[in-house]
This record gives sequence, C-alpha cells and structure tokens, in this order.
Amino acid sequence: MATVEFVAHDYGSDQTFAAARYRFDGDANGWRVYRDGRLVLELGPGYRLLRARQCGVCSTDLARHLLPFPLPQVIGHEVLAVDERDRRHVVEINASHAARGVASDCAFCRAGLSTHCPERWTLGIHALPGGFGPWILAPVRGCLEVPDAVPDSAAVLVEPFAAALHAVRTVAAQPGDHVAVLGPRRLGMLVVAAFAGERQRQGLPYRLTALVRDRALGDRAREFGADAVEVVDDHASALGAGSFDVVVDTTGNPAALATAVRLARREVHLKSTHGQPSCGLAHLTGLVVDEIAIERLPGSADLGEAAPWQRLRTGRRPRLAWLPSAPPPAWLAAEAFVRCGEPAALLRAFAADHDGLPRADVAVAATPAQVDAAIRPVAGDERSLVRPRGAILVPATAAGSGSPLLDAVAARGLRLTTSRCGDFAAALALLAADPELCRLGERLVTHHFAAADLPAAFATARSRACIKAVVDHPDGAPA
Ligand SMILES: [Zn+2]
Ligand SMILES: [Zn+2]
Repeated sequence: MATVEFVAHDYGSDQTFAAARYRFDGDANGWRVYRDGRLVLELGPGYRLLRARQCGVCSTDLARHLLPFPLPQVIGHEVLAVDERDRRHVVEINASHAARGVASDCAFCRAGLSTHCPERWTLGIHALPGGFGPWILAPVRGCLEVPDAVPDSAAVLVEPFAAALHAVRTVAAQPGDHVAVLGPRRLGMLVVAAFAGERQRQGLPYRLTALVRDRALGDRAREFGADAVEVVDDHASALGAGSFDVVVDTTGNPAALATAVRLARREVHLKSTHGQPSCGLAHLTGLVVDEIAIERLPGSADLGEAAPWQRLRTGRRPRLAWLPSAPPPAWLAAEAFVRCGEPAALLRAFAADHDGLPRADVAVAATPAQVDAAIRPVAGDERSLVRPRGAILVPATAAGSGSPLLDAVAARGLRLTTSRCGDFAAALALLAADPELCRLGERLVTHHFAAADLPAAFATARSRACIKAVVDHPDGAPA
C-alpha cells in the first residue's frame, strides 16, 4: 500500500484556482484519488506514482473550461517527472488500455489507435490529476525515460513537440514544396522546429515560411528554422491565392482557417482545437480530436491505390457511410461496403459491426450540415460516424456550398488534414540526435513560475508578452 498526500490548485469552471487537499492510495488493484477526504476517482491497475518536476502551460489549459470534461480538476499535461530513483520521465497523456498495459478487447487499442481509446482518461485534461500538482499517476507504458542528451528545458516540451512532429509527419511535405506555418506562437513555433528537424533528418529540399503578425515572432521563427518570414495582417491580404503548397494553421483562431484555405494549393493542416465554429462548420474541433481528413470524393476513373479508403489499409472491405440525398453511384458498391441513411442511424449500424473498428472508415457528405453530422452525429455524444484518422469525402458537385473550405475541397481538390497527440519516442529520438534542436526550450520559454504561483502563471500565459510559461515544482525528496 502506497499513499501520498499533498495540496494542489484545482482549476474550476469559473476559470479560477482553489487549493484542495489530495490523497492517492495505491495497492495491487490500482489507485484511489481523494479530494478533501472524498473519493473522486478509482483507477484500475497500470499506473505508477511519479513526482512532477516541471509542467508547461499550453493553450488547451487556457481553454480547459470550454472542453467537455468535468471540473474542478488539477490540470497540466506537459509534464517532466522523476521516479523514486530520480530518473527523469516524460509521460504519454492518454491512459488507454495499451498505455496502462492492461488486457482488453478494445478495438481501438488493438488497431494501434490507443490515443483514441474511448475508455482512456487523459492526464491533466480528463479526470487524471495533472502536472500542476506535485504528484501524478502515470500510465506505466506511457512513461518514457529521458536520455541524458536532452536537457530539462527541452524535455518539458516533449508533449507539445511530439504533437508538432506528428503534424509534420501527417503532412509529409514533398521535395520542392513551399510550406507555410500560419501564426506560429506557443505550439506553432514547435511545428516550425519539427519541420526544420525532420527536413534535416530526411535531407528533403522544401521551403519553410512563417506567416506572423508580429515581427518579433518572425525573428524567433527564423531561430527555429524558418527560411523566410512574412509579416501579414489578419487575412494575409498581401499574399495571393495559392501562394503555398501546404499551409499549417496553428493560430487557434477560428477566423484563420479561411485564410489558410485561400493560401494553400494542395493541403491545409489544422492544428487548432478552439471549440468554435469556423468556415461554416460547427464541429471542426471534433474533427481535429479524431484526426479526420476532409478531401474530394474521387471519380470512378481515379481510383486504385490512391483511393482514400485504400490508404487506410484496413485489411478488409472498407466501410462507407453515404449521407447525400442523391443515391451513391453504382461503381462505389464495387469499392466499398456502402450504407445509406440518417447519420444517427448509421452511427448505430456501424457501432454494431464487430470486425475492426465500430465506425465507418469514410463518410461521403455534400453539404456543411452533412459534414458536421459525419463528425458528431448525435448531440452530447463525442463519437464520430467516421473512425479516427478516417476521412470525410466531398463530391465535386458540392462546390457552392457556402463553406469556403468545402468549396475549395470540391472545386479544386484541396485536402484538409488534422492531427492531435504525437509519438513521444519519436520526439525524444529526434531531440537526442540534434543538439541544436535541444535548445528549443531556451528559445521558446519566456516565463517560469513556482507551482505555488499557478494563478499568476495563467494570467501571464494569457498575455501577449508571453510565448510559453513553465511551472516549476520545488525539488522535494524522491518518491
Ligand atoms: Zn498541450
Ligand atoms: Zn483501449
């Protein structure tokens, strides 16, 4: 039986902090979390107790009251922690069956989609007490020891850097491309750094431009590896349509997506979860959370390996949800198992399938309302009609829908890709091999705060003067 007791700042739905007394009790069956003497969370096996050393403040923390998870909670998910022998660890935040190392018949963990496990808690975001408190309970297989070559200042950024690297690998820029990162700041600077690091590692010639509103951020983007900087207004009105092959929107601003769509020839990558409507669509944050793409429905002459459902490599006949009122073309039935109907009924039908994931692999949607319905078919239910990393396909006939995004997809074949959490091992390996990249902490972090001053850290993190704030815990005795 292990027990720790401590006082930590709870974050409340009114965006204020309040001190609470916590106790973690652990035994062979798992851990129990008590707040002010009351049992608030019972965890099964597969967690280990670590002491938090540092924790970064990210935009998700600042918008935590907008997310669909209960408060109060100790938040903070960008954690550098130490174990009982003072070894340093970074912690994968999705406490899935796979990350906990527990047996289950979870289709998502089995399919290698553990960051989408529907039964996961999320460290410092959903239920699991986070790294702004002095102790955390981390999923055992989600703890990665930090190599000596990676200093604390870079290790505390591994969670957002892994997310940035995942975006870069999802985009997969090609030789000769011109890639723009729109609005690099807290997360976007790490996207610039990840592009520069990956480009170096792969020896790929592509150009990287940072689009900033503030010249000082441009200088910083150059330090992180951008080849060029453009200082632009809110709509980047000085830049012509199709100025770049790929535009990565890291602004966190719903108005920026239309700008990214206008500037991109081939692909827009969306890396923002602001929880607000954008480009005539209500559920784009759900799209990013589920890492779903939006692209044009190919014609019958345009299939083979390139078809969106072939790229998913499901190993079986792809499942397709058809939402338009017009019937599907006859050739589609030869490519995929097609179900037509109302989105909520289709969600139930695919959820009852037992081979593979209980979702459609792709959905076809011809209007903004149908795209929204493919992302969140049932109000108050966080399940998508489409599987994580699947796609929503828009027919060419949908041009003129009123959504600038869907019009660009339908009329000129623009692709929208999205991504969320990344692979910590890949991020650590890239950092450990690149001393220049290891300086990303000293370049990005503008403010440090003691954990006792968490409210001040949040106030500063919201200000324009701050790019990145990190909270430091006093060095106590090892666990
Ligand atoms: Zn974050
Ligand atoms: Zn699972």
